Formats: sequence, structure tokens, C-alpha cells
Amino acid sequence: MSQAVRLRTAAVVGGSVGGLFAANLLARRGWHVTVFERVAEGLQSRGAGIAMHDELEALITAAGAHLSGPGGGRVDGRTAYDRSGRRLAYFHYPQVLTSWARVFNALQSAFPPADYHGGREVAAIEDGPEGALLRLADGHEVRADLVVGADGFRSTVRAQVAPEVRPRYAGYVAWRGLVEESELSERFRSEVFERYAFIFPGGSQFIGYCVAGSDDSLTPGRRRYNFLWYYPVDEDGELADLLTDAAGRRHEFSIPPPLIRPGHGETLRRRAAALLPAPFHEAVQRATQLMIQPIYDVESRRIAFGRIALVGDAAFVARPHVGIGVLKAAQDAAALAESLSQEPDVQRALARYQALRMPAGIAAVRLGQRLGAFIERRLEAPWTDPALGLRAERVIEISARLPAEHEVGDPACTT
Ligand SMILES: Cc1cc2nc3c(=O)[nH]c(=O)nc-3n(C[C@H](O)[C@H](O)[C@H](O)COP(=O)(O)OP(=O)(O)OC[C@H]3O[C@@H](n4cnc5c(N)ncnc54)[C@H](O)[C@@H]3O)c2cc1C
Repeated sequence: MSQAVRLRTAAVVGGSVGGLFAANLLARRGWHVTVFERVAEGLQSRGAGIAMHDELEALITAAGAHLSGPGGGRVDGRTAYDRSGRRLAYFHYPQVLTSWARVFNALQSAFPPADYHGGREVAAIEDGPEGALLRLADGHEVRADLVVGADGFRSTVRAQVAPEVRPRYAGYVAWRGLVEESELSERFRSEVFERYAFIFPGGSQFIGYCVAGSDDSLTPGRRRYNFLWYYPVDEDGELADLLTDAAGRRHEFSIPPPLIRPGHGETLRRRAAALLPAPFHEAVQRATQLMIQPIYDVESRRIAFGRIALVGDAAFVARPHVGIGVLKAAQDAAALAESLSQEPDVQRALARYQALRMPAGIAAVRLGQRLGAFIERRLEAPWTDPALGLRAERVIEISARLPAEHEVGDPACTT
């Protein structure tokens, strides 16, 4: 007599890239997956340029998703400049810089809309021998054989299973901005627009590169220039002030860009005129919408708790110097799905997942700490402390890519 086989059920908390990678990969392996995402709609508008990697493309395909539209801005390598604009180093490394939204849209289109619940916040989780129980903020309860905590850097899931893990402020922020190519001077466009530039203006770090236009256009004249400027900011006075809006409300971890007080933007523009070589300071002067990203490290000691797994930023957040948040989330999801295919017992599969992914998460956090140490310690440049092993050549070689094979599993990352 044949018996109906019950589909195994997974509840994914967080419907951004990490959650959607996990959801698609598990669904393709026969799980019945439901995604709960706190934000009702509009996740696409997040983020700007992210670096495309061959492995990321392969994982998008493995998730059953298809990238559409033009690929993104192409750069042939990275160039480091000093404060006067003198070229310090060049590293040949062709890359495509695409948009976060392009990856998100591909993953979301691949997942059944009926199983993706936007505007549904998970408030609490209980694990038990027969399954996990999710309590939603609207009062509903959901049972699942597996819970994937893909709810980002301020994860509700992590706060419940590992409350001792807290984001640690790194002592600096990244100012981010986007400028329309058409707003930039002829000199900027011909000399630096298509370069992936690293500049070290006295104790800070500026990075700029071209990305597609707001309509995904790669036509010259319609693209945009994206920059990040890491700058030291004391936690108590200065950071609190940056995160306080005009109405006097102090925002905890970040402030919505329209609420940044205009005076802070003016200070940044004056600083750009004083510290950035021509023509780079134009990018800051002409950016219409500035954004402040305080830099934090998140390092979990465990990422598997019975039937509950943490993936992506919920598990580890490396500083943006490493530039692989999306790829790391995809790799976590792939390792989780693979572990659950190899090992039918969910708890044992999650233990296996943890063993596979902890070293990579730790290595990414350590690499970010090493690349940002000079800003955190208020040093003039990365090479001011030779013990960091970061001459300009090395900085541009190891930024914005996966830690080398030998660095994963070697949390000290001392090379
Ligand atoms: C400004 C900026 C620029 C970046 N640039 C790059 C880059 O160039 N390259 C790169 O690789 N990475 C970049 N990153 C990092 C990258 O965006 C993240 O690493 C990546 O999005 C992590 O995906 P995630 O799904 O783990 O977490 P997130 O994208 O943070 O998503 C978490 C989701 O969970 C939801 N959520 C939270 N709590 C709950 C709850 N209780 N219930 C339900 N849902 C919940 C949130 O609404 C959110 O949608 C950037 C990040 C920022 C902020």
C-alpha cells in the first residue's frame, strides 16, 4: 500500500537575497518553503553597485533564477591613488559591477509569489522536537521542520537563539553617493569614470566606480558613478549626531537618507574639496542623495541551533571592504541546501552546515577588520603599520573579493 510522502516544510525569515537564495534552492530540492518578509514592498530600491563573480552567477542559475537586462558597468582593474592624485598601484582584475536589485529581482521572479509573504514580520520562534513554531507579529503561528534565519544584520532570529551576539561598531562610517554621469565634467568622464579607484585621503579611504543608470542603461552618458568614503567617526558624540534627524530623533543603527541633516552633507562636500584629488571631489560635490552607513562587525559563534539555521548577514557581517555580502549569503544558502540533501536528519544536517560555513564567515569578518584597521585606529594609511601587510598593491588586490582559499579556515588571516 503506498503512503503519501509528507513534504518537508521550511519557513524562511527574511525575503531579501539570502532568504530567496535559500528558498529557491530548498524548493528545488523538494521542500515546501514559505518566506516571511517584514517589508511589504520595494526591497528592489535597496543598494546600488555590487560586484558580479562567476560563482555568484553560477549560484543564481542553480537557484533557478535568470538575470535579465544589461550586465552592468565593466572595469578592467583597480587603480590606487594617493591624496595628490598620483597613481600608486594598478591591479588587473576585470569585473562587472551590477545592481543589487538585478540579483534580487531574478531570485524573486524564480520563487512562487503565493509562498512569498511581504509585510509579515516574524516576532518569535520556538524550537521543539516535532518542529519549530514561528509567531508572527500579526498573531499568526506557523509550524515548520526547518527555520532559516535570513533576516539580516539586526536579525530577530539571531537575537533569540544567540542574544549575546551584538553588532560591534568599527569606529567609522561609509558615506555613499551616486552621481549621474551627465553631471560630471568631461575631465572626470575621460580620466576616471571607468576606473575602479581607491584613494587614501589622510586616514580615510575613498572608493569609486561606474554602475548602470537608474533605468539599467549602460549607454555612455546615462550611467552613474558610485562612491563610498570611509571616514572615522566617534561613537558617542559624532555618530549620535550624524544619526539624529532634523526633528531631533536619534536613529539607532542607520538613518534614512532623506532625514540626514543638510549640514552634514555640506561638511562632507567641504571635506571633499579639501582632501580628494581633482577630479574625484566632483563625485561628492554633485551627488544628489547621500547615504551614511555606520560600519559594524557581526561574528556569530554558532549558526545552527537545532532546526534553526542562520544565513547571510544574520550569521556574519563583514565590513564592506570585503564586498561579498551577496555572494556569502548565496554560498551559505547553497551549503545549507546541500547539507540537507546529504543528511535527512535536519539537526545533523544543520550541524554539518555549520561546520562548512563558519570558517568562511569568520575569515570574511577578519579580512574586513584587517582592511579597515587603519581607519579604526586613526592611522594615516593602511601601510602606516607594516604588521598589517597592506601596501597599496595588496589593498587593491584583496578588497572586494572572497578571502583567498588559504585565508578561509585561518581566522587570523595574517598573510
Ligand atoms: C548600502 C549597502 C551597500 C552594499 N553593497 C554591497 C556590495 O557592493 N556587494 C555586496 O556583496 N554586498 C553589499 N552589501 C551587503 C549586502 O547587501 C548584504 O550582505 C546582503 O543583502 C545580505 O543579504 P541578507 O538576505 O542576508 O540580508 P538583508 O539583505 O539585510 O535582508 C534581510 C531581510 O530580512 C528582513 N527582516 C528582518 N527582520 C525580519 C523579521 N523579524 N521578520 C521578517 N523579515 C525580517 C528585512 O526586511 C530584510 O529584507 C551592501 C549593503 C549595504 C547596506
